This record gives sequence, structure tokens and C-alpha cells, in this order.
Amino acid sequence: MLDTATIRAQFPILKTQVHGKPLIYLDNAATTQKPLAVLDASRRYYETQNANVHRGSHYLSQLATEAHEQARETAAGFINAPETAELLFTSGCTMGINLAADTIAKSGMIRPGEEIILSAAEHHSNIVPWQMLCERTGAVLRVIPLTPGQTLDMEAYQNLLSPRTRIVAIGHVSNTLGTVNPVREITALARQNRPDTIVLVDGAQAVSHMKVDVQELGCDFYAFSGHKLYAPTGIGALWGKRELLEQLPPWMGGGEMIKEVTFEKTVYNDIPFKYEAGTPNIEGAVAMAAAMDYVSGLGLHNIAAHEQKLTDMAVEGLKAMPRLTVLAPDVPHSAVVSVLAEGIHHYDLGTLLDQMGIAVRTGHHCCQPLMCALGTTGTTRASFALYNTEEEVKTFLRSMNRALEMLS
Ligand code: PMP
Repeated sequence: MLDTATIRAQFPILKTQVHGKPLIYLDNAATTQKPLAVLDASRRYYETQNANVHRGSHYLSQLATEAHEQARETAAGFINAPETAELLFTSGCTMGINLAADTIAKSGMIRPGEEIILSAAEHHSNIVPWQMLCERTGAVLRVIPLTPGQTLDMEAYQNLLSPRTRIVAIGHVSNTLGTVNPVREITALARQNRPDTIVLVDGAQAVSHMKVDVQELGCDFYAFSGHKLYAPTGIGALWGKRELLEQLPPWMGGGEMIKEVTFEKTVYNDIPFKYEAGTPNIEGAVAMAAAMDYVSGLGLHNIAAHEQKLTDMAVEGLKAMPRLTVLAPDVPHSAVVSVLAEGIHHYDLGTLLDQMGIAVRTGHHCCQPLMCALGTTGTTRASFALYNTEEEVKTFLRSMNRALEMLS
């Protein structure tokens, strides 16, 4: 059980008034708010440790390096990575997927005609980098469709697997539908089909809602963003298996990623530094570790149970409203619920809810192919976090009812 009153006191921004009403922040899938533990960690870093890392022999440089590498250890432990060195800091999930796709394309390991399997519900961040890889390598995208109930069509997935399959890139949790995809099964099937298939998981919508164990999932890469996990923007991580990270070429060139440079030849650094050219976001890494400690302290199972209750309440309440189609697949489902309102534009609905103090997301949620499959241009999406309350969900449902009446 989470004590939401105590928790909410830790998030100063939640006291905001919007159009004279208390803010009800239900746009957590876009980004989460930050607790004092994270804000304090950022400030403490700059007040007591700030220097550049891995460079100076001086005192502060050593403190900053230790803080950065301690943050790496925390992040690796958070997703149960077998080795800390396999955890690369990135600016976020998008950079992580681009880093993986680009270095795979550059490696020459993909041959023309080989196939990359994605799902119809992917975020643009897990589509466009693979399209760019296809342009460079002559590989071909294949798409797992959704069933009429908006879950992944696993039979179709099995039929797509073939000797040509080289990469499977799949979202752990859909940012629009909330569906928790059976990643372990997807990975196992990919390996049965062809053992050297590279499986990348987009964990942007998973890490703040469930305990992620990359070893249990059996994937090769796992990417996520700090800002959806109560940490600042501009920091995230890509975990990759050592074997692959050693085999793939570096992504960007510069300081930190080298052992030795001459004009004739550069010897690259070991992982993870080989993939971390330039001065990293040191404070971001430290603050993300503080966010991970914060959610681990509350317990991801407690957070999941709390959010499940809120999501179930929202789904049930929304389903009872005329004119709404609730896109909540009947499978394991995370803290996201999207609705389509018959004859009402999602933007109008979002604007009216904002007038009532409620922040929801409207639009395509960076999932235009999914919108196309759903036959719409956008949805209205509410997404929950550990600080949301049952009272807030009740107010949201009442407000939605009122907004629908006003727009009728
Ligand atoms: N994948 C999914 C499923 C997402 O929801 C998001 C963010 N909306 C991303 C990837 C990209 O994350 P970021 O913009 O933080 O890089």
C-alpha cells in the first residue's frame, strides 16, 4: 500500500493550481513529475561534486567520477543487468534505440533482404531508426499486426519469423494502449527461429511501473528514459549484452571513447566508455540513480498494485460512458488508458479537461501507424503514476462525463 499523502508532499509541482483548480496530472506516460529526492540529488551534485569525469587527478574530478560510476551501478542493478559495464548512459530512450540501430547498420552484420520485425503499436522512436537501418542495409521491415482486441497477434508473429529474421524490436508496454507485451515469449520464439536474432526492447513505458529483469526477458538490448521514471530529462540508458557491445563499432567519436589517438589510428576504449563520447550528463545520471532508489524504496510491486487499482477504476468508469470506446486490451495492462469519443475531436476533449485542471494527452502519441490501424487521428489518453489518487480518478471521471455532455 502506498501512502499517497506522504508521497505527494514529496512532489512540489503537484500543488499547482490550473485555471483556479487543483492540478490533476494524468500525463505521466509523456513525462513524470520529480520528487524532492531527485531535485535534491541534482542540487547536491552541483553544490558538492561538480567537475568533469574520468579526466582530472584532482579531488572534485574523482568525486564526480565516483558519483557517475555509482549511478551506473545503480542503473544496472535496477534492471538486473549481469554487468555494470553493459549499461550505457544515453540522453533517453530515443538515443538508445538510435545508438543500437545505427551501430548495427554500420557493423555490416545485416545483409540485404534480411528482416526486422516490429509491432503495429510501436512508438515512432522504435520505428524510424529501423527504417533508417533498412535504407542503409537493404533490410526489410515486417510488422506484427494487432488482433481486433488490440493485443499483439502472436500467431502472426510466429508466421513472420523466418530464416531471414535478423532483428526483433518490440515495446515492453504500449504508450497508447497500455498493453504489456509478452516479451519473454517473443524473445524465446525469435531465438528458437534463429539463435543470432538481435532482440531490442523499448522499455520507455515499463521501467516506472514494474520490476524489469533483462536477464529474465532474455533480450539483447533494453532502452529507457529517465524522465518517465521521475528523473530529469536528458538522461536514460541502453543496456546491451557485452558480446554485442564489444562486436559493434562505436557510434560517435570524441573524448572519453578512446584509449589512444594518433593521426594514423585510434584505439577505442572498453565498454561502456566506447559508446560515451564527450562529457556525459553527470548530474542527470546521479539524479536518475536517486529516482531509481526512490521507486525501489517504495517497492515496484507496491507501485504496480496502486497503479493497477487506479487504472481499473478509470477503465471501468470510462467504459460506462456513452459515446466512448475504451482502448484497454483485455491482457496484462499497465497504467495507461486511451479513449475514442464518437463525433468529438480529441483536442476539444483535452482542452475542456484542461479547463477543469486535468492534464491528459491528446493526439497520435507518436504512434501514427497505430492510429492508422485504429482508423483515427488520435486518442485522449490518461496515464497514471505512483502519486495519483483514487480521488483524482473519481474527479477525472466526473469531469470526463461533464466534458462529453458539453460537447454533445
Ligand atoms: N518509446 C515509447 C513507448 C515511448 O512512450 C517514448 C516516449 N513517449 C519513447 C519511446 C521515446 O522516449 P524519449 O522521447 O524519452 O526518448
